[in-house]
Amino acid sequence: MRFDLRGKIIFSKELNSEIIEDIEEVLKSSREFFLKGVPKGKEEEASKIVDYVFQGNELVLHIVSGRYTRAHDALIRLKKPIVEKIGRKHRIGIRSILIENYEISIPVESNTVKDIKVPECEEVIFEDNTLKLVFRNIGEKELKRNIIDRAIKFVKNYVESEEDLTRRVCVIEPGTVVREYKTKRSITFKEDPTEVAEKLGWVKRFPGKGQWFYTPPMAKLFRIFEELIMEECVNKIGFEECLFPKLIPLEIMYKMRYLEGLPEGMYYVSPPKRDPEMFKEFVTEMMIKREIPIKKLRDLLRDPGYVLAPAQCEPFYQFFEHMLVDVDKPVKFVDRSGWTYRWEGGGARGLDRVNEFLRIECVMLGSPEFVEKVRDETLRYAEKLAEKLDLEYWTVVGDDPFYLEGRKKEDRDIEFPEIPKYEMRLWLPYEKEERRGVAVTSANVHGTHFVEGFNIRDYRGRKVWTGCTGYGITRWVVGFLAQYGFNYDDWPKVIQKKYGKPPEIPKVINWP
Ligand SMILES: [Zn+2]
Repeated sequence: MRFDLRGKIIFSKELNSEIIEDIEEVLKSSREFFLKGVPKGKEEEASKIVDYVFQGNELVLHIVSGRYTRAHDALIRLKKPIVEKIGRKHRIGIRSILIENYEISIPVESNTVKDIKVPECEEVIFEDNTLKLVFRNIGEKELKRNIIDRAIKFVKNYVESEEDLTRRVCVIEPGTVVREYKTKRSITFKEDPTEVAEKLGWVKRFPGKGQWFYTPPMAKLFRIFEELIMEECVNKIGFEECLFPKLIPLEIMYKMRYLEGLPEGMYYVSPPKRDPEMFKEFVTEMMIKREIPIKKLRDLLRDPGYVLAPAQCEPFYQFFEHMLVDVDKPVKFVDRSGWTYRWEGGGARGLDRVNEFLRIECVMLGSPEFVEKVRDETLRYAEKLAEKLDLEYWTVVGDDPFYLEGRKKEDRDIEFPEIPKYEMRLWLPYEKEERRGVAVTSANVHGTHFVEGFNIRDYRGRKVWTGCTGYGITRWVVGFLAQYGFNYDDWPKVIQKKYGKPPEIPKVINWP
């Protein structure tokens, strides 16, 4: 953004050479107080006085700036030191300030905004992917009404409703394949692993939507992949293990902006009221009617106060809430302590899209460079693991970073990474119509999204970013079975060695 201001400070009487000399002294040191409060590294964006001229009782100024200490703020900031310098000494005051012409250039991506009508703005010019707002004759009264900020906010909101946020943030078009691996062997297994696993009794459908009972042969495979990912990816990068809570208070989801982004994608949890008498009634009614009196039960519950963890990294940001961190001592935590949940509604089907799943979640906090480097490592090691197992994969730039969901109506200044999300997919050969894969690793950098929401700061004011990488164990297993099948002898040596003697499923007459 660029702010280009031509305006003036009008004094209560004619300026003589002595007064001018004193004012010029203030102007010479103006950079100093324009830089006050400007974040490190953003100094270039602060206001500069390009030129000025004295005319009668006026000081006419040309000021330009970027996003910090914007030109109109700079003009106001000039008042006090000038008055302090000349007021008493020369018995002169400032009568008023006036911005005669103010041009604000806002970069925009598409021309869908060119017909925008901005309140109180005289002219809007669209050219070279820039929207130029022109204001004329703005005095202190108008500035006090914040018309400039309101106009900018208006444009930003408008632009963001017009453009898909992810597309605006990403430097690479979402969906672009950044790496790819083809298997060395030829894949002969072409069946749907969900169907085969069900037939073999390795899984059994659970009454809850998108849930499965995983029997010993399957559970063993889960643990092997968990172990492999820990050994080959997580431990190599040096993540320290924690146990994250999985029952998450709504307040945290609100701060994460998950609650506004994907409110329909979670399980909400209501604790009961502590009223044993009322519950007695409920039990009596149930015994008499021989069914669950759901309405009665609903009255016995409190309002929903929690969700079952959908992202798994929620507790991490809460842990650092209001903390002063040191980006020279960055944090790498990993959690693999259990199930997480997403309500997929009608979307749940086979084992590759479930409502209850196991994931290894790596979370990091540190400088932008650190977080991006670690994120890239988490992805690279996952790819290497797939290559080691000769699993066909491709990695794409993601089009739906979970944390951006809630940001479609955003107006704060948030720093975004150039690539918010990579997604690595294992090929599902049984999908005949198109080349489809199951997303097994999602590697995200959040910029300052969570750091803002949870008020996490570096003690020296340096930039703090966060990132997270999820390895979906359930999905790694699905991708593996889809490419290798269920025959132990066909599996790679690494897996065979860890698997050992295949466990059996219970012997039952009418199942599987
Ligand atoms: Zn996460």
